[in-house]
Amino acid sequence: MSAKLLEGKPVADKILADASSRVSGLKAKGTHPTLAVVLVGDDPASKSYVAGKEKACARLGIKSETHRMPSSTAVADVLTIVRELNARAEVHGVLVQSPLPNGLDESLVVEAIDPRKDVDGFHPVNIGRMMAGGDALLPCTPAGIVELLLHYGIDPAGKHVVVVGRSNIVGRPLANLLSRKGRGGDATVTLCHSRTGDLASHTRRADILVAALGKPSAITAEMVRDGAAVVDVGVNRLPDAADKRGYRLVGDVDFEAVAAKTSAITPVPGGVGLMTVAMLMSNTVAAAERQQAGR
Ligand code: NDP
Repeated sequence: MSAKLLEGKPVADKILADASSRVSGLKAKGTHPTLAVVLVGDDPASKSYVAGKEKACARLGIKSETHRMPSSTAVADVLTIVRELNARAEVHGVLVQSPLPNGLDESLVVEAIDPRKDVDGFHPVNIGRMMAGGDALLPCTPAGIVELLLHYGIDPAGKHVVVVGRSNIVGRPLANLLSRKGRGGDATVTLCHSRTGDLASHTRRADILVAALGKPSAITAEMVRDGAAVVDVGVNRLPDAADKRGYRLVGDVDFEAVAAKTSAITPVPGGVGLMTVAMLMSNTVAAAERQQAGR
């Protein structure tokens, strides 16, 4: 493999160290940053993401509370708990773990979260401010990808970035961040999706290619230009009897073959995922700071 491995850990550690010192500053002024997570149902991946968030909070001295609800919960009950958390001044961040079980209206729930506590950065107020270049809590995975690229000296400015996947939590906000003016932006962005014709003709033109399709190893070597940088957002569980968990994690990129021809590539796991959690901690601290300052 000739590609530089864009590991998330050193970048995430830097962000977490900064967050940790800001937590100390908040505590010195009498504020104990607190994150409340609502987990509906028992999706194994969601449970493991929530456990990762609790662990990160504990490491930083952020108080965390997880509200577990059965998958049969009615949307009205999720809204009730969200409103209770909005009303509690000692809770600074509120997130509802996605995806919600079938039938629960995700946008209704996200819109119920107080935008000042929306540490996932999914509320329309934060999305709107992000688009307008204002002071927003940014969506964690897209913001984390930008920080990862900058840390490794891969400045998107002036580059052609091709993003594959247009979800509201990854692809579309990422395309928006990368095309903003200023730090971490100034890229020319192509946003692809399942209706894109001849996907490879677009991906092959990328200086930086971001794969966020949720399809194991869908990005093959033929789809990538020699020397491109590749960011693999995908987290896919493949059954694996040899693994004690019964599965292994793979990304959306055919790692070995693609790494052989790129200049840089993120591993899965150990790449973007670590950035997502670090940015969530950073957002929680930022939300607490703003609330302490009465904003
Ligand atoms: P979604 O399923 O919400 O969106 C997938 C997107 O990919 C859609 O826009 C879809 O197009 C597009 N797509 C699907 N198949 C193709 C294809 N064959 N060609 C081109 N486009 C395609 O996924 P998410 O954005 O939520 O997540 C994407 C991946 O990233 C998943 O593996 C997820 O687990 C992972 N993830 C990782 C995170 C991390 O921290 N590392 C955080 C969040 C997600 P269309 O819109 O037309 O349907």
